[in-house]
Amino acid sequence: MVAEKYGFCAGVRNAISTAEKILSEKGKVYSLGPIIHNPGVVERLAKKGLVTVDDVGQIPAGATVLIRSHGAASEEIAHLKQKNVDIVDATCVLVKRMQQIAMQMEEQGYKVVIVGDQNHPEVRAVVGCTTGAVVVGNESDISTIGTGRLGIVCQTTQSPEFFGQMLSAIARAGFDEMKVINTLCKEAIKRQQAAVELCRKVDIMFVLGGRESANTQKLAELCQKYNKKTFHLQNWDEFDKKLVFGSRTAGVTAGASTPQWIIDDFVKNLSAVEAES
Ligand code: SF4
Repeated sequence: MVAEKYGFCAGVRNAISTAEKILSEKGKVYSLGPIIHNPGVVERLAKKGLVTVDDVGQIPAGATVLIRSHGAASEEIAHLKQKNVDIVDATCVLVKRMQQIAMQMEEQGYKVVIVGDQNHPEVRAVVGCTTGAVVVGNESDISTIGTGRLGIVCQTTQSPEFFGQMLSAIARAGFDEMKVINTLCKEAIKRQQAAVELCRKVDIMFVLGGRESANTQKLAELCQKYNKKTFHLQNWDEFDKKLVFGSRTAGVTAGASTPQWIIDDFVKNLSAVEAES
């Protein structure tokens, strides 16, 4: 069984089609960080001329640069502009919205608090759009917030449960003012709900997607809560027949950066294993 909602979201689809379009026009394009957290897609686009770099310093003057769906910090954009590069912005509109909200809240005198993973590129880009945003990834991080009126947003791919849990922990810490803007992505939430619904009905659950993909990790983490036999695999190559011993029904879902061919290939192979047993 496959989840009702899974796979590519609008933001990822837009980033990939933008990359394909400019690659066909320019031949060589730089991407600041992997375009999406899926090695297969990165490799396929690399063959077409997409060069992934970690730092603006690695991009030559006059080049064409793609800003991926996770966005880039204002400082990085300023640095790119100084280099006189051609910037093609494929930042997801929801990520852009969060960056704008964070900047506005800071202008209004709020201390910006981002609930999420401080190492995720989307979160790093939002931090980089502010002068002093604090990232809260767990309850022990709350002590680092300090004092002030809080303006709180959330990494787009976190779950509503996690956001709620962190908000309640922040409220318990006694801050006088908390302005909360819901920046969660509805596409990601729909995938989470469909995954949870399915994993509760099956004996074993597979969540497909890149190891680095935050929304895939979140899907796996949620499914694990309701079905202990949940496995996060990148593709069929990581499947081991031993995993399905004793299971009669299997569910499959995939993160927002997992291409359809990986899902189709997995489902086809899994069906063949089911038919054999
Ligand atoms: S998961 Fe949501 S926020 Fe992230 S790229 Fe996709 S649509 Fe945008």
